[in-house]
Amino acid sequence: MNVADSEVVASILSPFYSITDSLKEAELILLNTCSVRDNAEQRIRKRLRELAALKKKNKSLLIGLLGCMAERIKEQLLEEEKSLDFIVGPDAYRSLPELIEKASLQIVSFNVALSEEETYDDIEPVRYASNGVSAFIAIMRGCNNFCSYCVVPFTRGRERSRDPKTIIAEAQSLFEKGFREVTLLGQNVNSYCWNETEKKIDFADLTEQIAQISPLLRIRYATSHPKDISDKLLFIMSKYPNICHYIHLPVQSGSNKMLKKMNRIYTREYYLERIKKIKEILPNCAISTDIIAGFCGETEQDHQDTLSMMKEVGYEYAFMFKYSVRGGTAAAEKYEDDIPEELKIKRLEEVIALQQHLSLQSNKRDIGKTVTVLIEGISKRSDQHLFGRNPQNKVCVFPKKEYKIGDYAEVKIIKCTAGTLLGETI
Ligand code: SF4
Repeated sequence: MNVADSEVVASILSPFYSITDSLKEAELILLNTCSVRDNAEQRIRKRLRELAALKKKNKSLLIGLLGCMAERIKEQLLEEEKSLDFIVGPDAYRSLPELIEKASLQIVSFNVALSEEETYDDIEPVRYASNGVSAFIAIMRGCNNFCSYCVVPFTRGRERSRDPKTIIAEAQSLFEKGFREVTLLGQNVNSYCWNETEKKIDFADLTEQIAQISPLLRIRYATSHPKDISDKLLFIMSKYPNICHYIHLPVQSGSNKMLKKMNRIYTREYYLERIKKIKEILPNCAISTDIIAGFCGETEQDHQDTLSMMKEVGYEYAFMFKYSVRGGTAAAEKYEDDIPEELKIKRLEEVIALQQHLSLQSNKRDIGKTVTVLIEGISKRSDQHLFGRNPQNKVCVFPKKEYKIGDYAEVKIIKCTAGTLLGETI
């Protein structure tokens, strides 16, 4: 979401500033922040200290902080981080020109007002960090789920969906500019809902309409909440080959006791039923997940339940973290963060080791198959090789030959590591 937000911010400021890669040349530096984990916030603090030194040399340089961290701890930040000139929350980016003007007059200010309506749907993002092939489209903002460990409903406000007409127009325009893949973004895309006068448009309807733009436009989406992923969506995915057979379905824990404390709304059994359905309707669908190790009160048995869940699903990929308390959340108020750090690390390492094994097994099963790869760039290891992704979101590397970035290539997989498929075009 932060990349998509930064592209909206770049668009709002495009009449006043152009983007530079050089810190020394910059007149304005904006840091877009995430508060989901403590170490993300610590990295921003470190960055602000580094930028303070730059500001001493360049007195007219302005530094602003955007995003969730701005929302969560604005007073504390303004008090402690003297290099900051202004702070803007995720729903207040339209006020940036005004805040920058005040900052240039040395008036330190902030706007962290949350909105029930803001979706920035009339703003065409500036794709400054894009490879020209893949782009993000934010289809909704905020979240209503209140998982007990998560700050997002407090920093990004309540869930609201964007007008589908503007989303489809954005996807169409990206396709016409040469983009070949769009990722539809939201905290919980499966609860996307837009009420037209006569009919309701849900996420499955929206995805279908985007899929009809062109068979050459690939569609991905993130993130799905297990409680909301519908059979209707799975059937639409099976109907359109350009909707990638890949679903990111965060499980967080395999223990019902932990899921209840996390306020995830589903049980292990319900989650496994959804996985069964996905595999039934989309037999070649890759599934990835998020896992938190060492949540409050997690016993060895709870941890083992997570490991057994991972094996049962056979995830292709996982984002894995150890729990860190986020102030203001229900978990911070109600539960003791009682798992010792060394034990959290040990459990996280076990989760990571298992996932490495599962990813490698999954990739090995692809050897000998031919997959369609959308080419995204030149391999970091060799300029004679290209890389891209197959529909299952696996990175594939293969010899360049006559192909170019943005082409589709049929690649036969001949080797793999846990993270990459290696092949030859056919
Ligand atoms: S679904 Fe839960 S974890 Fe995801 S953003 Fe919403 S509250 Fe946070």
